[in-house]
Amino acid sequence: MENLGSRLAEYLNSKNLTEDYRRLLNNALNDPDVQQFLKENNDKINSDALSASAASIYEFYNNKHHKSELSKGYYPKLIVSNHNIEVAYYPNERTQNREKRSQYESSFVLMDMAPDIRKAKLDDYDGDGRQDALAQALDFIDNYLNSDTFTPGLFLAGDFGVGKTYLLGAIANELFKHDVRTTLMHFPTFAIEMKDSIGQNNVLSKVNKIKVADILMLDDIGADTMSSWIRDEVLGVILQYRMQENLPTFFSSNFSMQELEQHLAVNQRGEEEPVKAKRIMERVKYLSREVIVTGRNRRLNK
Ligand code: ADP
Ligand code: MG
Repeated sequence: MENLGSRLAEYLNSKNLTEDYRRLLNNALNDPDVQQFLKENNDKINSDALSASAASIYEFYNNKHHKSELSKGYYPKLIVSNHNIEVAYYPNERTQNREKRSQYESSFVLMDMAPDIRKAKLDDYDGDGRQDALAQALDFIDNYLNSDTFTPGLFLAGDFGVGKTYLLGAIANELFKHDVRTTLMHFPTFAIEMKDSIGQNNVLSKVNKIKVADILMLDDIGADTMSSWIRDEVLGVILQYRMQENLPTFFSSNFSMQELEQHLAVNQRGEEEPVKAKRIMERVKYLSREVIVTGRNRRLNK
C-alpha cells in the first residue's frame, strides 16, 4: 500500500506551489495530529487527489493554530468523506454548553460547518455553471417567504468543490435575515453521531429534534456507504415525517438523484435492497428539486 504521507511530501516539491504555501504545508504535514490521521487513514484516502488533500490539511492546520473570528469556539478535525480528506468543525466545550442551552430555541442551527460556510452570502455567489442553482435558490426563498403552498427545497448535485455547501450556507444565512430557522448538517458526520448514540439510547430524541426543523439541509448525502439502519431508521424516518408535514428539505450530493438511488440500493454489507432505496428516493423527490451544479473546483487555487 502506497504511503500517502510520502506522496504528499513529494507533492510539496512540485513546481507550481508558491513558496509560502509550500512552507506552511510543510509545517502542516509535520503536525502530530496530521501525521496520526494520515497513518490511521492511509488506506481509505484517494491518493490521486493530492492537491485536494493538501488543501484540506492546510485548512485544518490553519484553523488549529489561528483562530479566526468565525472559527472561535470550534475546533477542526480531519475526517474522510467520499475517500477525500475533509475538515469538520466541532464545538469546543464552552460552545457546546452554550449551544445545549440555545441550539433548538435559537433561529439558526449550523452543525459541523466550516467557518467560510458560516459567512456565505448569496450576494457573493456567482460564476459559470451556478446561475441555475442561484436562480432556484432565490425562487425558493421568495416562495417560502411569500406563499402558503408547500415549497420544495433543492437537491444540489455536482462534483466536489463546485460550491454546493457554500450555496446551502448562503441560503440559510439569507433565511436567517427573515427570522427563518435552518438546520444545516453534514450528513455523514451526523450518521456517525447517530451510531455513537445507540449505546446511550438517545437516537430517537435526536432524530425527533432534527426532523421537525422548519428548514432542514442534509449536506453531502451519499458520501459514505450507509448502513441499512441509517438509511431506513434515521434518514427514512426524518424524510417520512417531513413529507407528511410538508417541511422543505435540501440536499447536496456528489451524486445525481438517479445515482443516489443506485448508491442507496447497496448497503454496507454489499446486499442489494432496491425497493428500500426507491422508497427513500420517492421522499427525496417529493421534498426537493434536482439542480445540477457545475463549474471549477473552488477548493483549489482559491
Ligand atoms: P462542495 O460542497 O460543492 O464540495 P464547497 O461549498 O465546500 O464545495 O466550496 C468549496 C470552496 O469554495 C469552499 O472553501 C467555499 O467557501 C468556496 N466557495 C464556493 N463557492 C463560493 C463562492 N460563490 N464565493 C466564494 N467562495 C466560494
Ligand atoms: Mg460540500
